[in-house]
Amino acid sequence: MTADPAPRAVPLRALVLSIAALSVPVLGVFGFPAWLQEEQGMLIWMTSLVPAFLLAYYRGLRGVALALAAGMAVLSLTQVSVLALGVSGPDWKLLLTFVTAYVAICLALGVVAELLHRERRAAESLALIDGLTGLPNRRHADMALDAQFAAAVRGRRLVVVVFDLDRFKRINDQHGHDAGDAALRGFAEVLRRNTRRMDLTARFGGEEFISILGDCELSEALRFAERVRDETRRVTTPAGALTVSAGVARFDQGMGTHEVLVAAADRALYAAKEGGRDRTVVAEQHAGGRPAVRPVAGVAAQSLGAPRGSESVMLIDDDSDVRRSLERLLKVAGYRVEATEDPDEVLRRFEDGVPPDLLISDIVMPRMSGLTLADRLQQRAPGLRVVYLSGYVQEDVAWAGLPGAVVGFVPKPVELKDFLTTVRDVLDRQAG
Ligand code: GH3
Ligand code: MG
Ligand code: MG
Repeated sequence: MTADPAPRAVPLRALVLSIAALSVPVLGVFGFPAWLQEEQGMLIWMTSLVPAFLLAYYRGLRGVALALAAGMAVLSLTQVSVLALGVSGPDWKLLLTFVTAYVAICLALGVVAELLHRERRAAESLALIDGLTGLPNRRHADMALDAQFAAAVRGRRLVVVVFDLDRFKRINDQHGHDAGDAALRGFAEVLRRNTRRMDLTARFGGEEFISILGDCELSEALRFAERVRDETRRVTTPAGALTVSAGVARFDQGMGTHEVLVAAADRALYAAKEGGRDRTVVAEQHAGGRPAVRPVAGVAAQSLGAPRGSESVMLIDDDSDVRRSLERLLKVAGYRVEATEDPDEVLRRFEDGVPPDLLISDIVMPRMSGLTLADRLQQRAPGLRVVYLSGYVQEDVAWAGLPGAVVGFVPKPVELKDFLTTVRDVLDRQAG
């Protein structure tokens, strides 16, 4: 799929043709005034429609161009027929009025049809296609992930690969945004070449891409990622060869939502970056592990109670509405709350002084996934307690791979009672 092409620039020859066409009636009026009074003299005015036709054609208004061409053809044919048949002189004034009205209606219809058509195409492509690379966009990827995840829950295999270009900011900084854009397009072409028709590769954001590989073995996905990595080195940029890091994760029962799967791949990607970039890392598998998350329904209702002492909670979510409403709720419930959308702020907070008692984190965030953030925090605070927030959950989350000493999970849209219950549960539960 490709994005809608921009309208073509009007070429010089169209301008020359237009001037020539316009000069025909002008010269006629001055050069052959007597001939113009004759019946066939009407024909000379036809050429004045040529500039409008050419402009409409080259600006991509094909409907308008067609209407104008049809108008010119009908006018000329009528006039020629009138002359050929020797029909006695019509009422030229009336004819001219009719013809003008006809052309105006043609034009108006053409313009309206064209506008509607363009708007629909723009809306369609904006909704699912990334304008820069022509690859499917994040929205499209989310839809595909949703469908593929549902199939995976029913037993179909599923692997996702997340790619992130290495040191991409340097290309932008040293050689300009256009060089960066060209590199993105070059990389997108590599992905397009290597993606099977049954799979979907999308631009996930910035210089991050995702491949959703249905019915695929981990080993096949690895070969795919390595092939992409290999071919990426052949994409030349002003800063030299382009390289990419990749994180691969396979669907595991109990992940509950595709966001957890993507976050697992993202975490592997982070490991690839930490390991020195230009490499592929596969996420650890947690098959058969102890369920990390106790279903909320299993928690006694009385545990919904107030905080013990003044427990502190740090909340991170890139969605400001969610952040604000949960912050308010937690405060009303008696917790001390700090809320942010910046993972670096959370990292700093855990570094200096006393870390908060609980981290509440969204799973998919643009700068760092909740799983990667928790991984990093766990290095500083081994007893980390986390409540993960995530989108529509297709089944209970019972995946041992969520990082944290004690973890809970709350689907969005957040049910306030479930949320407070899970927070209480994670704070009260014994680690291990
Ligand atoms: P790393 O190897 O750790 O991934 O380093 P990096 O420089 O690639 O990572 P970082 O996330 O710091 O920088 C990503 C840059 O991508 C920042 C932003 O300017 C650039 N970028 C995002 N979207 C576009 C785009 O559409 N066009 C261009 N030219 N640059 C973009
Ligand atoms: Mg990035
Ligand atoms: Mg990068």
